[in-house]
Amino acid sequence: MSPKARRHKPTSNLPQLFTIATLGSHSALQILKGAKDEGFHTLAVVTPLNEQLYSSFAFVDETIVIPRYSDFPKLDAELNRRRVILVPHGSFVAYLSMREHKAMRTPYFGNKAVLDWEADRLQQRKWLTRAGLKMPRQFTKASEIDRPVIVKLYGAHGGKGYLFVKNPDDFTARASHLVEQRYIMQEYVLGVPVYIHYFYSPLTGKLEIMSMDRRYESNVDSLGRIPLADQEGWDIQPSYVVIGNQPISLRESLLAEAFNMGEAVVRTSREICPDRGLFGAFCLETIVTPESEFFLMEISARIVAGTNLFIDGSPYSYLNYDEPMSTGRRIAREIKNALLSNSLELVLDQSSRLSFDDGAAINGQPVAVPGPGVPAN
Ligand code: ATP
Repeated sequence: MSPKARRHKPTSNLPQLFTIATLGSHSALQILKGAKDEGFHTLAVVTPLNEQLYSSFAFVDETIVIPRYSDFPKLDAELNRRRVILVPHGSFVAYLSMREHKAMRTPYFGNKAVLDWEADRLQQRKWLTRAGLKMPRQFTKASEIDRPVIVKLYGAHGGKGYLFVKNPDDFTARASHLVEQRYIMQEYVLGVPVYIHYFYSPLTGKLEIMSMDRRYESNVDSLGRIPLADQEGWDIQPSYVVIGNQPISLRESLLAEAFNMGEAVVRTSREICPDRGLFGAFCLETIVTPESEFFLMEISARIVAGTNLFIDGSPYSYLNYDEPMSTGRRIAREIKNALLSNSLELVLDQSSRLSFDDGAAINGQPVAVPGPGVPAN
């Protein structure tokens, strides 16, 4: 064996020594497939209802069944025993309280500090406007409404319960019952909803656009199927419930701005969440107007379900990689590169333990970190 091969052998086996785990929902299949492709052992934490589904995939090595997803934090010790590195997705925020989420010490890909900024729409607004991004105008009182608005409930998921309101009278008639609930009122921006999926590598300092989608929402995306004349006299209210996602590619002339927006958000995150800010997968949820202006609706600071369209890679990931590269796989690649360069703490939240009870430490022989598109081994 050449000295070079001998030097690389222990490090290239590193992923096999660790298990990448996530909750069995949202984008778990993509995350675990990507982890397997990168050489990790994989674990899905599931409920009785979906155990069979997740076990049916060859790339899922093991499952742990828990009665409810909210029981997940109780597994901390078991995950430690199994040398687990967690990859979070949308269900982590939906099912676990912020306190429990933060208290877990299982190695966690990403920065939990960003969750506080992401969870509160007002904080999000501060973050995105500080990054120089355009956001729809916000109204606090019904009497201020001088244009069509969208009333968005706090804690809604997938646009459920959102209301389109034309003017102050319309608000009084249809939305005044909401006073008990927390909501925001935003200028209704007419345009195409484009969701841009990014990945920022703390190892290379590079941002990548992984993919994009537009949502298909019921019934707002179907109203055009009925001629306006036939809608007259029929009390149809638009609703924004997400039914599915469709791939979209952006006009190339808009791509530079999409990229710059991602960079600005990452840069600003280091000011608001010093010193590591946002890293890993995130999504900017935008509406693009006929003037080709991007208006930001929201940021998701982790992998989003729209990336499930691109388990086999996207036109954008193909530009950086000669192999199928989903966002899930890109996350596993980052963890692998971090292991290989002995810098795992750079991709994990600070709550993460860096050694396991069985004595296994998260370290390896330092090697050069490959940039995007460069296979780690
Ligand atoms: P998720 O949590 O799944 O991202 P959500 O409940 O946070 O969804 P949003 O992404 O904020 O919902 O919005 C849902 C949909 O509502 C958007 O896809 C868009 O069609 C519509 N919408 C939201 N804000 C606006 C706006 N200011 N102008 C026009 N449409 C909007």
